[in-house]
Amino acid sequence: MGWQVLASAQEAAAPAASEQQPQPPALPVCVIDLRLPGVMSDILSNVLIRGEQRPESEVNAFLEEAKLSHPRGEDLRKAAADHFKIDQKRLEELVEFWGHVNCKHAAIPGYAIPDAVVSAATGERLIPVTVSAFAADVTLHVVLHELGHAVIREFDLMVLGNEETMADAFATHMLTEYFPERAHAVIAALVTSLMIEADEVPRNEWTVRGEHDNDARRAYQIAALAIAADERKYASIAAMVGMSEREIGSALDYGADIHRAWRRTLAPLLMPAGKESTEARVRADDATQAFVDAGEPSLRSTVESAIKRFDWHSQVTVDFVGGDGGAAWNRSKRTIKVNGEYIGRFFAQGVEAEA
Ligand SMILES: [Zn+2]
Ligand SMILES: [Zn+2]
Repeated sequence: MGWQVLASAQEAAAPAASEQQPQPPALPVCVIDLRLPGVMSDILSNVLIRGEQRPESEVNAFLEEAKLSHPRGEDLRKAAADHFKIDQKRLEELVEFWGHVNCKHAAIPGYAIPDAVVSAATGERLIPVTVSAFAADVTLHVVLHELGHAVIREFDLMVLGNEETMADAFATHMLTEYFPERAHAVIAALVTSLMIEADEVPRNEWTVRGEHDNDARRAYQIAALAIAADERKYASIAAMVGMSEREIGSALDYGADIHRAWRRTLAPLLMPAGKESTEARVRADDATQAFVDAGEPSLRSTVESAIKRFDWHSQVTVDFVGGDGGAAWNRSKRTIKVNGEYIGRFFAQGVEAEA
């Protein structure tokens, strides 16, 4: 691999064991393996789109197919050279040059600078977010959960129990009450996501500690509140968490109280019918824009519709950014920040759920 070639070239250039010579700087550790078709495909994508200016749609279409039918990275590269009519030797050199672009180690002289290094210089590490209906659905519940924290803080609601449980209830209530056309898909996706997360930990290790309920418990409580909003409409969600008839009957009872409490609590905080708050805004950066604007209705339009319903006293922002981390409400900035890394996790869960 190019990186080893470079390392040995530097070693060769350095006079052996000379005390006058400064030690070469420690070289970054690189684990990239171009023998894997997935890794080769990612590098080829950079070579072809960014290096060779080939149309993105053609490159993506080719790589999607070709990486499945070429189990060796090298064969995939050769097939790409044939398809895009690039000299084999030249493509090999280009792949070598671009080889570290997706790495997170420091830049290596003579090679394309890793994107992570470029954006570290500007302060943001952009991770382009893949468009996915499942991920958009999960993300909508996540944003509404954070909006719950925002509403609790900004309108000084009384926190009469665990705020995390309140925020989940707020999000589920908002969906069933104000976005009934999206609610089923969103709650089903969130419950799926939580159950995948729960299954990553052996059941006897599920925690009962901390502020957040464990993921399996969250999934159950969200399903119970959905059932309480409409027993027939959300029956399949109750089935996802394995609710019995008796548990459904019980959820209809206590869940109705919770929905009523939210209706009464939120009513005085809402804008008059047909009016929108001018103190609410939704922003998406280059990495998240396509994801946020995809679909009809788009994630952006639903989030805007939710946030603009409230009569905020000062500006509140939802920021989608292609960064590392999860989602959180920041009190001093009055901002809900949703990171691309988190959305990427939901994307992977959607793929897993489908399989
Ligand atoms: Zn590398
Ligand atoms: Zn929370």
